[in-house]
Amino acid sequence: MTQPFLPLCRPAVDDKDIQSVVEVLKSGWITTGPKNAQLEQQITDYTKSDHAVALSSATAGMHLVLLALGIGPGDEVITPSLTWVSTINMITLVGAKPVFVDVDPETLMTNAELIEPLITDKTKLIIPVHYAGGSLDLDPIYALGERYNITIVEDAAHALGTQYKGQPIGQRGTCLFSLHAIKNVTTAEGGILTTHNAELAEKVRRLKFHGLGVDAFDRETQGRSPQAEVIEPGFKYNMPDICAVLALGQLERIESITAKRTALAMAYRNSLSQIAGIRPLGIAEHDHKHCWHLLIIRVDENVCGKNRDDLIAELKEKGIGAGIHFKACHTQKYYRDNYAEKFGAINPNLENTERNSSQICSLPLFPDMTMEDVERVVNAVSEIIG
Ligand SMILES: *Cc1c(COP(=O)(O)O)cnc(C)c1O
Repeated sequence: MTQPFLPLCRPAVDDKDIQSVVEVLKSGWITTGPKNAQLEQQITDYTKSDHAVALSSATAGMHLVLLALGIGPGDEVITPSLTWVSTINMITLVGAKPVFVDVDPETLMTNAELIEPLITDKTKLIIPVHYAGGSLDLDPIYALGERYNITIVEDAAHALGTQYKGQPIGQRGTCLFSLHAIKNVTTAEGGILTTHNAELAEKVRRLKFHGLGVDAFDRETQGRSPQAEVIEPGFKYNMPDICAVLALGQLERIESITAKRTALAMAYRNSLSQIAGIRPLGIAEHDHKHCWHLLIIRVDENVCGKNRDDLIAELKEKGIGAGIHFKACHTQKYYRDNYAEKFGAINPNLENTERNSSQICSLPLFPDMTMEDVERVVNAVSEIIG
């Protein structure tokens, strides 16, 4: 008997969440409104931040943060190449230069030691990435930012539920969380900015909706005040309430969602470590709580005689989804073909990025998976490797 397809991920949406969407649909107000306000409040409380701004995606948030910080031509932004390409695209689209920093070979996270040699007098921003659900070592990175007077924006797309030294990611500075369908808490598509910087929050709030000065949902007018004026030209990056409401229940259950992911990840790591040529990512030694967004292994072809892409294809034949998080951005066609001409020589020290980019594979991990599913995946990997 063939087993049903086991996807890479499945959102943790329950019947109550579905009912909450139906209620918004029936309410007559389906776009940005009171559910956005509730989501922003819940995220502010959870991350211990001062401000939260809900957006259509984390990518939209990155675009607006770059603009709000005045990043543009002549500026350099340091960020890993091993990240989702949206960050590199947004830096390039605002006219700034993405400077690629290497990552730790085991955790795939960058650190202050790797970042510091890349700082020049053009460096305006550093965007380190919390990878796979682990936490960056934030103290040395923020110390670097202070020493050189450079702003830090944490890419926290994987890190809702992650902690650093007992504090939630988001508590420290300015963060962008993604609520895309694969992420631990989802609105289907969506993102949210958290920050202690009131001016930045206000600017992003304005830019996300045409540059209008007022954003608050007004019960009397059922929306924005009709007198609201354009302060500066803006975008259309707001989140509909039918999306926002989907996250409210998930946020209430976030500790149990994280606990289920953690139990599954631990079971995976125990069994996978028995297979020669398969190495799960390393876990950072600094004090943190992992939210197990992704379960990533490295496939060493020299040891197991199978390359990563073949493993993914053969898992698919066995009805198991797998993914790559991520293909190094400097190896994407556009950046291969245009980086040197546009920006000059690429950082030559990206060995850990390049090796991992060709070896990493994400296996199914979502809260409604069972331990039997984990066993099925591990057995499949084991059979394929032989
Ligand atoms: C998902 C993701 C993003 C982008 O999030 P969207 O909400 O899809 O725009 C950015 N960075 C990383 C590391 C991601 O995984």
